[in-house]
Amino acid sequence: MAKRDYYEVLGVARGASEADIKKAYRRLARKLHPDVNPGDKNAQKKFQEIQEAYDVLKEDEKRRAYDRFGHAGTSAGFDPSAAGFGTGATGFGGGAPFESFQFESADLGDLFGDLFGRARAARGGPSRGEDTAGSIEIPFRDAVLGGTASLSLRREKPCPQCGGSGRAGRVVCPTCHGQGMVAESESIKIRIPEGTEDGARIRVPGKGFPGESGGGQGDLYVSVRVLPHPYFERHGDDIHGVVPITVKEAYAGAEIEVPTVHGERRSKIPPGAQGRQKFRLRGQGVKNPRTGQVGDHIYTVRIMVPRGVTPAGLDAATLLDSLYEEPVRKDLPKGL
Ligand SMILES: [Zn+2]
Repeated sequence: MAKRDYYEVLGVARGASEADIKKAYRRLARKLHPDVNPGDKNAQKKFQEIQEAYDVLKEDEKRRAYDRFGHAGTSAGFDPSAAGFGTGATGFGGGAPFESFQFESADLGDLFGDLFGRARAARGGPSRGEDTAGSIEIPFRDAVLGGTASLSLRREKPCPQCGGSGRAGRVVCPTCHGQGMVAESESIKIRIPEGTEDGARIRVPGKGFPGESGGGQGDLYVSVRVLPHPYFERHGDDIHGVVPITVKEAYAGAEIEVPTVHGERRSKIPPGAQGRQKFRLRGQGVKNPRTGQVGDHIYTVRIMVPRGVTPAGLDAATLLDSLYEEPVRKDLPKGL
């Protein structure tokens, strides 16, 4: 298959500005990133294609070589000065530039973090900083009742030692090892709204990247994973749990204490309760953060039978057995 034109791949005009190219790339990368399209070979191919196009068009030198010589001008080992490229440029930094498609291991956060990092280099008037993304795991209880969590955000900033040049006099800067950038981490407190669901995204205003020329900070989007609870299970706005009861409680009915996410609640079990029967405590579930409505607590009873067998117990059980109105297994299907 013939290689497509890089401008065509990104859907931009040949004279497109650096900012337009970046914008087009980001839009496509978000749509075609393998994390968004797991197992989609076609999306993967397209993603590689836009990545390759962007790697060339984002850099002045490579872009000029491409404009002049087409795809041949971007192949590894191509020497633009030898090809009459009159800028004294010396190759493209060695190595094949298009082999580094390591997106399988990079998650969306990394990809976009990197994109946002590059976006900071955009020139021009005041512009708002780019958004960034992170993720946290929170306990079940905090998700249901609300709480706070903290997230350590790592970002790159120009090395304070060398001012970003990567050099200290004649030697490599010892602080950033020549990178020009150093990592800095900031701990960010995040308010968890009551009723937060697993997979929810929380926006933290002003914790994205700083803007350019006095533009405001971008926002931080935190995706939330809610850790499972050993006892409670959430289904929508309802909470489910299992409550053991005695044979007598099931037979005669009882008033019992039922644990809910809001504490113990008294609940009545009617006489003749059956094993695995479900009961509902209204308004004892989760408050929906969007509608404000509160779900229910639903518990399933589990009838416990004494393990120790005694003559008196056998008498009582025999008596109970005589009380069934009909055979307990009469509704089982026959001849399966
Ligand atoms: Zn440095």
